[in-house]
Amino acid sequence: MKKQEDLGRQLLAIDRKNYKAYKQIRGHYDFGNFSLHIDYVQGDPFASPSQLAIRMPLEETGLPRDSYKNSSRQTALCDYISRVFAQNCRKHSDHRSAGHRGAGHSGKMFMPSIGQEILERNATVLADTSLEVRFNAGLPARGRSVLGRQAVEMLIKDLPQIVQESLYYDALDKRRLQAHIEVAEDADFLRTQLRQMNLVAFIANGAILPRRSGVDDRPMSGQAVPFQSPSSLEVTVDLPNRGKVRGMGLYKGINLIVGGGYHGKSTLLRAISMGVYNHIPGDGREYVATDASAMKIRAEDERSIQKVNISAFINKLPLQQSTEAFSTPSASGSTSQAANIMEALEAGSKLLLIDEDTSATNFMIRDHRMQQLISKEKEPITPFLDKVKQMYHEQGVSTILVMGGSGDYFEVANTVIALEEFRIKDVSEQAKAIAEKYQTQRAREGGQQFGRLSHRQVDHQCLNPEKGKKSVSIKVHAIDQILYGEEKIDVSQIEQLIDQGQLKAIGEAMVYLYHNANGKAKLADDLSRCEQLLNEKGLDALSPKLRGDLVRFRKVELAAAINRFRNLKII
Ligand code: ADP
Ligand code: MG
Repeated sequence: MKKQEDLGRQLLAIDRKNYKAYKQIRGHYDFGNFSLHIDYVQGDPFASPSQLAIRMPLEETGLPRDSYKNSSRQTALCDYISRVFAQNCRKHSDHRSAGHRGAGHSGKMFMPSIGQEILERNATVLADTSLEVRFNAGLPARGRSVLGRQAVEMLIKDLPQIVQESLYYDALDKRRLQAHIEVAEDADFLRTQLRQMNLVAFIANGAILPRRSGVDDRPMSGQAVPFQSPSSLEVTVDLPNRGKVRGMGLYKGINLIVGGGYHGKSTLLRAISMGVYNHIPGDGREYVATDASAMKIRAEDERSIQKVNISAFINKLPLQQSTEAFSTPSASGSTSQAANIMEALEAGSKLLLIDEDTSATNFMIRDHRMQQLISKEKEPITPFLDKVKQMYHEQGVSTILVMGGSGDYFEVANTVIALEEFRIKDVSEQAKAIAEKYQTQRAREGGQQFGRLSHRQVDHQCLNPEKGKKSVSIKVHAIDQILYGEEKIDVSQIEQLIDQGQLKAIGEAMVYLYHNANGKAKLADDLSRCEQLLNEKGLDALSPKLRGDLVRFRKVELAAAINRFRNLKII
């Protein structure tokens, strides 16, 4: 392996030359306590930045074995180091005078930004005997020529400093690291405990659920009302690090959240939907955990649908369209919501999260009066109200539903909680009494059974990621769109996708399915196959190149993206 000094000499030798000369520095360099891997060098200062990695023997880091003794801890440790490394990159980039190393990204080292969730990312990878951190660099330039001396400053001087401050246990804030690891381990444990306790969600007393704003995911400061469970729903969990924690347990079945407008219903549901992820210490949702398969369901008109069996909810559409293999390039509110549910069930979700704010009204309710005016023969939709119980009893799929607008759901709910000025009350008994006293005269619709599920098989050929001369073309826009091959996949309504790296990883997983097509596999098998691959080999298994921008997704989201792919072909 070449040495640090060799890199320095090379950089000085190409000073002022055409930017392409940087290509020569590709390779591995021994820096003594670590090695630097320059894997991809950008062709010009405005191209996507260069890809670098640091590899250090685990022993050298001084990290105690305890900090990575199980997979929860490993994920949290790597997440923490990524955050520290990214922060130190920023510090060193900012502290150099702006523009000194060139325009745009030039002269900066950085990693993708990280939010409130502790997630598996391949920015930092822990192997048996080494720790690897991947990052990007904009190699310094003036116009289109190399700034060799600045590059030396960046890679030979600043980088070892960043490594010193980020990868050594002694340089880290030990208490914060410990808290990060313990919180993640507890949250994982809590999530696995849910099923044994017959719960679908748990929200600890004292949790802070509201966020600072719609565009700022940090906890609301100051005036937030901490969560407090009503005593009737209080349960205790015993966590490996935090010990006993009390909070509200929502049981399997049908949970209804009611309450006046602006009293915190959607905020509670949103926190529950984010409970599929672990949160950083100080987030306020550290001990909010939700069934790992939970899927937020909403209406999503204009999405495409490919051969989904939505006949449980919708039948006899005008123009005799079949709803057992329903396809449309542009769904309505109700058909999209029906498809979203059927696809979630197909992908294995055991908990649906639904908010009236983002639902199609005619999908959710159909009252007595409307039944009188429009007979069942003329209404293709069976409202969710008539299906939610069957879905639970026959398919084992629970629901948490925000519904402030209709008491018809009192009939079917196992638990009804009310929000009053952000405080929770258990009103199950009252709601039951009201349902008995004021009988709705509505007739049940939709038959005795839930109906048939979808078990589709994807024609893997349709997942071709080619575009022009590129054999694989994947780009992502924010957390809204995956540009996959020639197609755009709109994922903006998949609310539990929270990190751009998840979109990238989903794109790569689709390429994986394209290359490893299994002729007979159902979509559900494809999803499990990807999940198993990730569990066994990690995110790196998805991409041949060295990169650090992939983030773990759940299989329900992979399914959701595939389902929104407009080229999708079902056999
Ligand atoms: P709803 O769905 O009942 O209409 P939201 O959940 O949208 O109400 O909440 C309304 C507002 O109240 C939001 O701005 C939200 O941030 C804020 N909020 C929600 N929960 C709390 C809380 N526990 N403490 C303080 N403010 C809250
Ligand atoms: Mg709301």
